[in-house]
Amino acid sequence: MRKRIIVANWKMNKTPKESLELVELLKEKVDTEEYDVVFCVPFVDLIPVASALEGTHIMLGAQNVHYEDFGPYTGEISAPMLKEIGCTHVIIGHSERRAHFNETDHTVNQKIFQTVNHDLTPIVCVGEDLEQRKNNIIIEQIRMQIKRALKNVSFEDVSKTMFAYEPLWAIGTGMSASPEQAQEVCHAIRQVLAEMYDHETANTIRILYGGSVTGKNCAELFAMKDIDGGLVGGSSLKEDFAKIVGCK
Ligand code: PEP
Repeated sequence: MRKRIIVANWKMNKTPKESLELVELLKEKVDTEEYDVVFCVPFVDLIPVASALEGTHIMLGAQNVHYEDFGPYTGEISAPMLKEIGCTHVIIGHSERRAHFNETDHTVNQKIFQTVNHDLTPIVCVGEDLEQRKNNIIIEQIRMQIKRALKNVSFEDVSKTMFAYEPLWAIGTGMSASPEQAQEVCHAIRQVLAEMYDHETANTIRILYGGSVTGKNCAELFAMKDIDGGLVGGSSLKEDFAKIVGCK
């Protein structure tokens, strides 16, 4: 049985002071042992948010990481830095990073090695754009992203990963994929994992859906067989996030 996980992606929102206000608003409402809950916050918010989350079950995540431990990479943040301040998860390959910051399937692959080697859980994002959906090359696109992301990743390491299916046309648009559309792709992700590894391994890996998840549509999405939770952007910045976490 895979435990549901709800991941908040604050993106580039909330100053350190504002981050504490948001944590105060949500903390008690989303502190649960029933599901895993992770706040992926901007780098400068990580330390204050880590303190504010002390004594709760809510976990802390980053939205990116570099693939080296240290060195001449001005402006970057390493896995040991994240680990030391209490991060447990890192979002990797978000479509916004692929679109604006040259993230590729190759760097995603490097970052998977880096995170698992430092005992951080990578949340690997994949998804098709509207053009690909119109041309019905959704599954091919997803399969290719996963195969490249997992190049040379061992059985042992793949079990430490999780995936998020995030169709680009659904992110921040208010136009979520239907539960059936999301299930079809999440199932395809599990299938490619089973082909690359085995069914047992594929069945333990959590696969999330992300793209305009709200308190209103979460129940139908999370009821789908291969959807193990959500990666939530806009709705994670307001009280609606508590509805998503409490979603039945
Ligand atoms: C995201 O940023 O990963 C995301 C899914 O955003 P939103 O929920 O706003 O669509």
